[in-house]
Amino acid sequence: MHTRTGQDIRQILVKAKNGIPPDRAELVYLLDAVDQSELEMIFQAARDLREMHFGNSIFLYGFVYFSTYCRNNCSFCYFRRSNKLSPRYRKSDQETIEAAAQLSGSGVHLIDLTMGEDPYYHRDDEGASRLAALISEIKCKTGLPVMISPGVADPGMLEKLSAAGADWYACYQETHNHDIFSKLRLGQSYELRMASKRNARNAGMLIEEGLMTGIGETAQDIAMSIEMMRELQAHQIRVMSFVPQEGTTMADRPAAERIRELLTIALLRLSFPDRLIPASLDVDGLAGLEERMHAGANVITSLIPPQSGLAGVAQSDMDINEGLRSVQEVKPVLNRIGLKAASAEDYTRWVENERSILR
Ligand code: SF4
Repeated sequence: MHTRTGQDIRQILVKAKNGIPPDRAELVYLLDAVDQSELEMIFQAARDLREMHFGNSIFLYGFVYFSTYCRNNCSFCYFRRSNKLSPRYRKSDQETIEAAAQLSGSGVHLIDLTMGEDPYYHRDDEGASRLAALISEIKCKTGLPVMISPGVADPGMLEKLSAAGADWYACYQETHNHDIFSKLRLGQSYELRMASKRNARNAGMLIEEGLMTGIGETAQDIAMSIEMMRELQAHQIRVMSFVPQEGTTMADRPAAERIRELLTIALLRLSFPDRLIPASLDVDGLAGLEERMHAGANVITSLIPPQSGLAGVAQSDMDINEGLRSVQEVKPVLNRIGLKAASAEDYTRWVENERSILR
């Protein structure tokens, strides 16, 4: 039996720093790291790679979950169709625009417009046009890049959203293990979800793919997902821990151990050193920010305006009304660990450059 040594890990990390990302077996090996000194080596290498590509600048994303209506019934999601406990709302265009403007004024670099698969927007061409008009107005009002997370969308809708100015399309598979997918996203097509991302890319948008840990996945599954993300050529890749939600079929399942998420952040950085990798405030709020940055993340997501009546996803209200998910609160954390918020111009330049490669 092969015995683990610090030397093995060091070799994998040196290779990664020289531009050769870990292969599937090496990813699995790294995911098995438990010893504190092994973990520290991995996190340090991830931070070194972040610094190599992004210096000490971090991008900040504002989050506007403007409709929690959804036609789907994902087993892990608080906002699944059948959950009577979740707050159900659809913000008016005016409220959504105001929230985006508030975030923009606070210093975020992007507006992430997220919704469930709300039939109001998905039902027909008119719905897609309503969403496109909202994107245009927000672009015009804030001058910032916009990410749209509408769920699975048909090619015509994606073309419309891109033409309206959406820079990013976010759609998370959560797993690339078909069996786990079918248990998470009940009654939904794995292929259709993947195709939606490829179509969005063909329509000229940057792609964000995402994973969830603590859902019964193996280290092999995570390594396979990393390969799928490479194939998809995703521009941003996120991992989040499963958090059990009241009123769902997975409510009694234990929350994911955070170390798996942190290690996966680091492995994503080793695998895709120049891509964007978020630290989400949505799992552990502001208290969980430092450890995610320590693992090699270079974007902070889920900044939400306080008192706006807007929800988060995995933690629907954590830290929001207290104002802790704000630019003002994350900046001192960044400064304390030798990082700083990037400028809006730096971020827009990154987005424009990547989009020009797609054209
Ligand atoms: S994860 Fe998204 S698609 Fe699934 S139920 Fe929740 S909001 Fe709907």
